[in-house]
Amino acid sequence: MKVCKFGGSSVADDAQVAKIRDIVAADPDRRIVVVSAPGKRDKADTKVTDLLIECAGRCLTQRDPSEVLDAIVERYAIIQRGLGLGPAIVEEIRADLERRVAAGAEMEAARFMDAMKAAGEDNAAKIVAEAFRAAGMRAEYVSPAEAGLLMSDDFGNAQILPESYERLAALAERAEREVLVFPGFFGVTKGGDVATFPRGGSDITGSILAAAVKAKVYENFTDVDAVYPVDPRLVPEVSQGIPEMTYREMRELSYAGFGVFQDEAIIPAVKAAIPINIRNTNRPDAPGTMIVHHRRARQGSVVGIASSAGFCTLYIDKYMMNREIGFGRRLLQILEEEGISYEHMPSGIDNVSVVFREEGFTPEVEGRVRDHIMRELRPDNLQIERGTALIMIVGEGLYYTPGMAAHATLALFREGISLDMINQGSSEISMMFGIQSSHREAAVRALYHAFFKE
Ligand code: ASP
Repeated sequence: MKVCKFGGSSVADDAQVAKIRDIVAADPDRRIVVVSAPGKRDKADTKVTDLLIECAGRCLTQRDPSEVLDAIVERYAIIQRGLGLGPAIVEEIRADLERRVAAGAEMEAARFMDAMKAAGEDNAAKIVAEAFRAAGMRAEYVSPAEAGLLMSDDFGNAQILPESYERLAALAERAEREVLVFPGFFGVTKGGDVATFPRGGSDITGSILAAAVKAKVYENFTDVDAVYPVDPRLVPEVSQGIPEMTYREMRELSYAGFGVFQDEAIIPAVKAAIPINIRNTNRPDAPGTMIVHHRRARQGSVVGIASSAGFCTLYIDKYMMNREIGFGRRLLQILEEEGISYEHMPSGIDNVSVVFREEGFTPEVEGRVRDHIMRELRPDNLQIERGTALIMIVGEGLYYTPGMAAHATLALFREGISLDMINQGSSEISMMFGIQSSHREAAVRALYHAFFKE
């Protein structure tokens, strides 16, 4: 059995839903279909999830949401009309949205926001199931609540509760009789509230279901032919996709900005050893990228180069820091008290730096962190720099190949890019550089040429 997930652009309008229908009909092993909410039809378009967030925001600030609500309903109506489905489904969707809005009056903001956000995928799954049936396929919408996809109470950033897997396994039997269409992105808490994964979370739902039913492959359909070794927006000449990569490689690349696959989505599939196949809804014959447990890597071969901006670096110097037991713990505790999650922490003899995300690190938080560190740790020097970008060079076997760091740093040196941080060795399969964000694009291009063209 295959579990297939279709991203927002694959559900964007009637023509795209017709492609999903044909892809699923073409392979009898495709039994469980996970869908995102309708995404952008073109660059200027707005995703249904973003419209829902706007709609919820208006309700929360006592503004009239009806204009946005109409725009959301229209996105489904386009699919209904284009595929010649009966009008009842659109009425059902409108009523569902109105019910959610009305229920909001009694709800706390975070819960309400999640209930609204989930409406995008929930209704997409309903209309896709309807489209399948209209084409004579046996298909049914499955609600995550009924299937037992239980979530933690962290609204907007929830995680699956482990006991869900046993219940979700029962879907395998049902899927033998009919194609199951399951909405991505959300589940329910033990208290019965809707809770969503982080943005892009339909990938996580697909991965969870593939693991729960022990699928032979998790097909993740998107709008590119494959995962590319660098972001084609930064390096337009990249034409060759990656045919095969390991879970570890994908995890590191998606952490550092590869948007094709949600960062956390890999974990359920890895644990259950289900291969992931990234494929293109618009070119279903292209083999895409296979993500697997092991692959034969040529020594030193780089699979991809990722980059991500929006980090801060905190530098601390203190003479004899190496003799001060508990220094690192106390430093991290100060950050923990401010709710800052650290990403990396390279250290020297008398110095340590901590890299964390800039988001939420307001000048007030920065002021408190500075005061607290000065008071408690009494450093000789404390510096906080914003605008750090991380560049990751990823490949199995990288670590064991001499000269890779030299090759990378030489390429950056030739471009006049200075390095604020190097982190090599903590991961066997990647090298990480911290640089100024303004150099990010040039750095990625230089490294792409060094590793893929020379
Ligand atoms: N619709 C949600 C989002 O835009 C989840 C997803 O598409 O995976 O983030």
